[in-house]
Amino acid sequence: PSEEYENLRRRVFSNTKEIWYFINHELTKLKKGDIKIEKLTDILEQVEHRKSFILSDQQKLQELDGYQDWRQQEAANVSDLVQKRLKYLQNPSNCRDARKVICNLNKGCGFGCQLHHIVYCLIFAYATERTLILNSKGWRYNTKGWEYVFYPISESCLTAYDDKVIQWPANYDPKVVSLPFIDSISQKPKFLPLAIPTDLAHRIVRFNGDPSSWWIGQMLKYVLKPKPAMQKAINETIAKMHFMRPIVGVHIRRTDKVGTEAAFHSIDEYMVHVKQYYDQLELTQHVDVRRVYLASDDANVLGDARSKYPDYEFLGDPSIAKTAATHRRYTPVSLTGLLVDLHMLAMSDYIVCTFSSQVGRVAYEMMQTNRVDASDSFYSLDDIYYFGGQNAHNRRAIMNHTPRSNQEIAFQAGDLIGVAGNHWNGFGRGTNKRTNMNGLIPWYKTADHLVLYPFPEYKHANE
Ligand code: GDP
Repeated sequence: PSEEYENLRRRVFSNTKEIWYFINHELTKLKKGDIKIEKLTDILEQVEHRKSFILSDQQKLQELDGYQDWRQQEAANVSDLVQKRLKYLQNPSNCRDARKVICNLNKGCGFGCQLHHIVYCLIFAYATERTLILNSKGWRYNTKGWEYVFYPISESCLTAYDDKVIQWPANYDPKVVSLPFIDSISQKPKFLPLAIPTDLAHRIVRFNGDPSSWWIGQMLKYVLKPKPAMQKAINETIAKMHFMRPIVGVHIRRTDKVGTEAAFHSIDEYMVHVKQYYDQLELTQHVDVRRVYLASDDANVLGDARSKYPDYEFLGDPSIAKTAATHRRYTPVSLTGLLVDLHMLAMSDYIVCTFSSQVGRVAYEMMQTNRVDASDSFYSLDDIYYFGGQNAHNRRAIMNHTPRSNQEIAFQAGDLIGVAGNHWNGFGRGTNKRTNMNGLIPWYKTADHLVLYPFPEYKHANE
């Protein structure tokens, strides 16, 4: 390792101790009544600055460890491999004889939700070596169908001919099956998210911190290829926006979602994290303009943000949000706007959003395909990352824990804990699978448990 790397590594170690010396000293003074409560804001600011400095150094460690080019190349190689396999699966040499799975794009929900429906179908297809046939006539975003907006998901195999279609699951293995919505499967196959293929897992974990969303992003990359007319419309809107780096993407989901599936969050709650991002960035580089790309289905958000935060430059198109907010939500026009928003969010350096929204999660999944590792480049105000209808998401205890209050649960190193969410206060909520106890868990004593599934390896895909 270089001298610069070693010095930086020692500095991170030493500054981690320093942050403890500082907190210990200040809190002890507070305990003795030596400091006034008004001083707390100042202490918090100092702790935040120290934390940002350590995180910033740690990011630099990754750039200086000598493996960055390797990670970049490996990410591109594994992505190419997955794309090649999908292309092979979707273009069988004999379409008539090929086993197939049929999915209908008639799910009565928004575009993010429909994209995830296709992802689920494509993962099913990949796991069972069946070519995916997408039925999209009468699609709510374009009645002529998916193929009118995006390139078809196969060049040579788009129909099951007149073969008998059997609803999955069946008590035998038919040639052509059609899939129910993921929400209504009672016995979920183990290959559904957040599982990733065993044969790729040990490659993906070496360049990406969140392999499950990377894998889902690869499915999106395969299906989301706008046709020239749509691409032109997207490009023209984007060209008007003066997109420049650095930029933070903010997604604010309002209208029908608030009060039904998610809580209301004010612009201030998002901007706290935008500010933190830029404060940290300014430790290592000069930032001319604090740019924010603002995507929303609430037409008032952009004006609100601009008047409240004059020190920031907000990019965005109020007409996109307006179209999204009105009853014309599911139209070709609203689709163009949403694709612009998703593209811009995914191109941003950092995203602040709510993962309760499928639009927010799609933006993050797309971001995972735009760079080597986006797993540290977002902040969700509510949920941790998930895939709707996924199998149990567990964390593995990495050390023992004895509860310090009756809200916490006990666990031993090695226990599997089904997680419901992170409270972003150092604790999450979960159920210990060994004891069946549910309660708070100190997040740092657990690590994400990645599920591997032996998907087919598509050895012929390279030929
Ligand atoms: P969810 O309801 O947020 O989980 O995501 P869905 O994709 O299922 O439905 C939300 C729909 O609202 C989207 O498909 C869009 O039509 C619209 N929408 C939500 N957020 C945005 C946004 O930021 N920009 C645009 N253009 N549309 C949005």
